[in-house]
Amino acid sequence: MPVEHAAIIGAGIAGLTAALTLSRRGISCEIFEQADELVEVGAGLQVSPNASRILAELGILEKLSKVWLEPETIRLVSGSSLRQLAAVPAGKFARQRWGAPYGVLHRSTLQNALLAAVEADPFCRLHLGVRLGSNSPPVERPADVVIGADGVWSKLRQSVPGSPSPRFSGNIAYRFTIPEAEAPAFLDRTSVSAFLGGSAHLVCYPLKETGSINMVAITAGNAAPHAWRSEPTAEQRARLNLQLSGWNSAIVSLLEEQQKLTFWPLFETTSGAWQDGRRTVLIGDAAHAMMPFAAQGAAMAIEDAYELAAFLANRPVAEALALFERHRAPRIAKLRQRGAFNRFAYHAKGPIRIGRDLVLGLKPPQSLAADLDWIYGYRAQHTL
Ligand SMILES: Cc1cc2nc3c(=O)[nH]c(=O)nc-3n(C[C@H](O)[C@H](O)[C@H](O)COP(=O)(O)OP(=O)(O)OC[C@H]3O[C@@H](n4cnc5c(N)ncnc54)[C@H](O)[C@@H]3O)c2cc1C
Repeated sequence: MPVEHAAIIGAGIAGLTAALTLSRRGISCEIFEQADELVEVGAGLQVSPNASRILAELGILEKLSKVWLEPETIRLVSGSSLRQLAAVPAGKFARQRWGAPYGVLHRSTLQNALLAAVEADPFCRLHLGVRLGSNSPPVERPADVVIGADGVWSKLRQSVPGSPSPRFSGNIAYRFTIPEAEAPAFLDRTSVSAFLGGSAHLVCYPLKETGSINMVAITAGNAAPHAWRSEPTAEQRARLNLQLSGWNSAIVSLLEEQQKLTFWPLFETTSGAWQDGRRTVLIGDAAHAMMPFAAQGAAMAIEDAYELAAFLANRPVAEALALFERHRAPRIAKLRQRGAFNRFAYHAKGPIRIGRDLVLGLKPPQSLAADLDWIYGYRAQHTL
């Protein structure tokens, strides 16, 4: 029997996008979100063409592209000398090469645009303040399929035998923003820049909507098993400073000056089953939370939502879920490998770092772009 109604747990990027992609297929849904209000935490987000082309189809992109920035390049820069090591063209080049734009924006801009579309959609019904596991969802209609879009700490995973588990990645993100007017000149206002150094890297890009620069430093570090974002302790700050030894003094002082740093331990999931062979499926971070070394976690959540709806559109649920998992798993595995490679290359020290800088310096921009074709040029399929 074809799917008519879905229950979605979690109204993050995965859950809200899934509601919209299902609605486009004539499948109604109820979304259950634990928060009483959707306030997006965090700061910036890079939206690559593989995701923006889906947002375009959902009618969201026009709104976003009015306020976001399409960076001219994505630069890799030495964290010690501030010398540019390589630059992948983006901007107009991204639109031409990958057929959709590459944009950077505040996460709340995307979340609010998705939320407004969900609220305006008669096929979608959002229930706030409902936590799976604590109170029973006020279901209005029994669901043919249950979609777990409840993030890295997913509760719905318990319903999927052999599902992944969260584990600490060994990395910490330190996040902050700086008003653009106060930002030092070496922070490029037109590009995404990743400053690379031994054991750490720092990603910076402007957020046009807020007139600020989004900054995320990622370093190796320790965290308690269930640690959540918080302010760093004096000890954690000291450890961060230690990891920046050998970095350019302008970057070190910039981090030292920041009063408002967020300490954000990075958790990822192990591999495991995403569906129970009947009617429950996990998507987004609930299925495959990954490190932000390829900036693709939200993009994968958006692709998942789009392709899950394609599978569900014309098949019995159990078959659709099994095919969805089989189709998506290799792409996610390949992206994780790319993330692990970037982590190795970005945080390289000594001779490996010298080799990396030489190789990057020799690669023409076209070749750097070609290396990203399989990620950014991916066209999530409408018919599966
Ligand atoms: C530092 C950093 C930088 C990043 N940068 C990028 C980037 O540039 N580009 C990119 O594509 N990705 C990036 N990512 C990854 C991206 O943020 C995530 O992959 C993405 O937000 C996951 O979305 P999600 O909807 O699956 O999960 P979440 O955003 O975690 O949403 C889960 C939702 O479920 C709700 N929920 C949880 N439990 C329950 C429950 N029991 N009952 C009801 N509701 C529940 C939560 O409240 C939440 O609203 C980055 C991540 C980090 C940490």
